[in-house]
Amino acid sequence: MNKDIATPVRTRAILEKYGFSFKKSLGQNFLIDTNILKNIVGYADLNPEQTGAIEIGPGIGALTEQLARSSKKVVAFEIDQRLLPILGETLSPYNNVKIIHQDILKADVQAIMEEEFSGTTDVMVVANLPYYVTTPIIMKLLEDHIPIRGIVCMLQKEVADRISAKPGTKDYGSLSIAVQYYTEAETVMIVPKTVFVPQPNVDSAVIRLIKRDKPAVSVEDETFFFQVTKASFAQRRKTLLNNLTSQLPNGKQDKEAILAALEAAGIEPGRRGETLSLEEFARLSNELYKHFK
Ligand code: SAM
Repeated sequence: MNKDIATPVRTRAILEKYGFSFKKSLGQNFLIDTNILKNIVGYADLNPEQTGAIEIGPGIGALTEQLARSSKKVVAFEIDQRLLPILGETLSPYNNVKIIHQDILKADVQAIMEEEFSGTTDVMVVANLPYYVTTPIIMKLLEDHIPIRGIVCMLQKEVADRISAKPGTKDYGSLSIAVQYYTEAETVMIVPKTVFVPQPNVDSAVIRLIKRDKPAVSVEDETFFFQVTKASFAQRRKTLLNNLTSQLPNGKQDKEAILAALEAAGIEPGRRGETLSLEEFARLSNELYKHFK
């Protein structure tokens, strides 16, 4: 087996050889701990004969290498052109890796999947995400209904806490609802800063999101459902009624309709958004939709 890329000594040697300087603006914090990488890959439950892996931000290839060893094929999106020649060298022992030089937020992931993974039905996204765009990346993959089994990724612990939060907790909000609507979400690892170079300023965690066969609740209109959940958390100390009347278009004139929808959904107007379960939000948005659609 080839020598691992993700050791402090090898990483330093690669960076020095290419005179590479980290760009903070691109969230470049590389992993230098092989055990952590193997654990991340373990949580993705990959099959070397069947699973396709998508990576976002391969860096110098630390995680890419582990994915290449454990999956059928890896497709990795990297925005920083300076990393392409480095990846060409570090990943040269692996013939099942394709690097795509694109911003993941602009890429047509679905089309690339059809091209690169034809005949592969099991695809996982596995990544140590650039922290400045964690939420847009996760939401793009979920909202665009990209046909993946799930996502295992490293991100800021604070965002992991919000994603996997349960109702009634301080971290529960519209992000928890948006992600849990599409997936079963779980924080699987808390990761110390010492496994990165350079070390990030925030704590990190790994989450696993497994897509549900169908969304957790049934809603008349997804866009409106997310609009209602965002409105309900606009000001956390305000009641549901206050937030909805101030945030929904024409909410002030339609206070009576909002009250009627709350009553029909069996939800006290004085409650706060953070106390509502996904089912209650679905009921409420379906009642409100009758009036606001
Ligand atoms: N996977 C490597 C590792 O674990 O050592 C590097 C992870 S580093 C946290 C994030 C990587 O994402 C960097 O290589 C960075 O250049 C890349 N990146 C940043 N923004 C990106 C974007 N919008 N699209 C694709 N890659 C991006």
